[in-house]
Amino acid sequence: MEEEKCPKCGAPLAEVSETATGRKLQRCSKGSWNKETRQNEGCDYVKWLVVEPQTLEEKCPKCGAPLVLAVTRFGKKMKKCSTNVWNKETKKAEGCDYIEWINGTTEPLDEDCPLCGQKLVLFTTSAGKKMKKCSTSGWDKEKRIATGCTYVEWLKPGKHVSQQESGGEEFLPPEP
Ligand SMILES: [Zn+2]
Ligand SMILES: [Zn+2]
Ligand SMILES: [Zn+2]
Repeated sequence: MEEEKCPKCGAPLAEVSETATGRKLQRCSKGSWNKETRQNEGCDYVKWLVVEPQTLEEKCPKCGAPLVLAVTRFGKKMKKCSTNVWNKETKKAEGCDYIEWINGTTEPLDEDCPLCGQKLVLFTTSAGKKMKKCSTSGWDKEKRIATGCTYVEWLKPGKHVSQQESGGEEFLPPEP
C-alpha cells in the first residue's frame, strides 16, 4: 500500500485504527482526538475506510438476488439486497429495497436479576457489545419506551464503556 498524504496539510496519514463499533478510520498523523475535551486537536482530517459489503449465501426474499451484509456508520449490521445501490447523481437508492436489520442476540443465563429476581439474559448487540439484562425487559415499539425491569449490566471489554460514551445508542431499538 502506497503511503497516503493528508489532503489538508500534506502530512502522512496515521495507522488504521478501529472505533468501538468496528468501523475503520485513518487520521492525519498531525491530528489526534482529545478524550477529555472531546475535540480534535491539530489537523482534523479523518479518512473513513469503506468496509466492503460481504455477499451472503442467502437470497433476497423479494427478488431472489443474493443478499449482502452491510455495516452502517454507527456499526449496526444489516442484510440488504445486492441489487440495491446508491445512485450518486440522483441521490436515490435504486434497485430492490429489501433490508433486514440484524439485531443483537440473546442467550439465557442462570443468574437472577438483583432487582426483581427473574432470570437474566446475556444480550450481545449487533456491534458486539455484551450486557446482562433482565429477561422481563422489553421494548414497546408503538410507545417507543422500555418496558419491564430496567436492570442492565454492561460487560466491559477491558476499558470502561459508560452509557454516555456509547451514546446510549445500543439502547435504541433497531431501525424500522
Ligand atoms: Zn492533516
Ligand atoms: Zn431484492
Ligand atoms: Zn429484573
